[in-house]
Amino acid sequence: MNIKSIIENCYNQVKEIENEGHLAAYIPELANIDPEKFGVYITTMDQNGFGMGDCSEKFSIQSIAKVLSLVMAYRILGKKIWERVDVEPSGNAFNSLLQLEVENGIPRNPFINAGALVISDILLTELDNPKAEFLDFVRRISNNPNIKYSRKIAESEKKVGYRNIALCNFIKSLGNINNEPDDVLDFYFNLCSLEMNCKELSELFLFLANNGCCTYSKEEILTERQSKRINALMQTCGFYDESGEFAFEVGLPGKSGVGGGIVAVHPDQYTIVVWSPKLNKNGNSFKGMKFLEAFTTKSKLSIF
Ligand code: GLN
Repeated sequence: MNIKSIIENCYNQVKEIENEGHLAAYIPELANIDPEKFGVYITTMDQNGFGMGDCSEKFSIQSIAKVLSLVMAYRILGKKIWERVDVEPSGNAFNSLLQLEVENGIPRNPFINAGALVISDILLTELDNPKAEFLDFVRRISNNPNIKYSRKIAESEKKVGYRNIALCNFIKSLGNINNEPDDVLDFYFNLCSLEMNCKELSELFLFLANNGCCTYSKEEILTERQSKRINALMQTCGFYDESGEFAFEVGLPGKSGVGGGIVAVHPDQYTIVVWSPKLNKNGNSFKGMKFLEAFTTKSKLSIF
């Protein structure tokens, strides 16, 4: 089987279909992105890579960064982290406030906004210089010093971040945020603003296909068990209210962001990233979902 020709085939097929999605215009800067961008990149465990389309252009990784902040906090707190955030799919939108009141401010999982805000609060408490240390961590696991925050995107989101401001204050009132909401939100908006291209992002996530071990430095980022758990969470909660659909149609652990990126991990085999900015009604890349569905169907490389 030739992975390159399968990718070419799926890319060309999905490029032609009508895009029924919409840009994430609630973040003003994201409304300016060219909606036709479409890139894909695969990195295999032997560190061979192959990409197509706009795979070298940087985009805002948004919620995909929630996996990285979770990994960093998990390294520090170990399993105590699950006292602050649960591991269940929410069945609700990524920015929903609904369940928090009845569930005493414990977010359903670390990948909805509520959960990522609690993880940001943990990092703020544990790190001396959270923004710089988080960026160093991401650069270290990807062996890539070119990764940066986008001040423009972070500021743009902060100006209109009414829902996240509400979420953070609400969780604080329920006792599960320890720092000042303004500080937690500033850190959260920054980590969502990280910019990477498909190639960089697929190389960054390779440690999750490699039992938690960095393929470049051989450093243990997570233990094998911890790495399995992050993949399990991506499988069950990575696509918000569409996580079941993603498991059903694609069959890989993965994570999406409202910048239109999706990263998916096949343990022991490969990581793949797709970027196409228009989102379906659940906030996941319309063409990204279609591409991955076609790719795992044609290659038979899903985990099921
Ligand atoms: N920064 C975005 C937000 O908080 C991230 C959401 C996402 O990518 N799903 O709304």
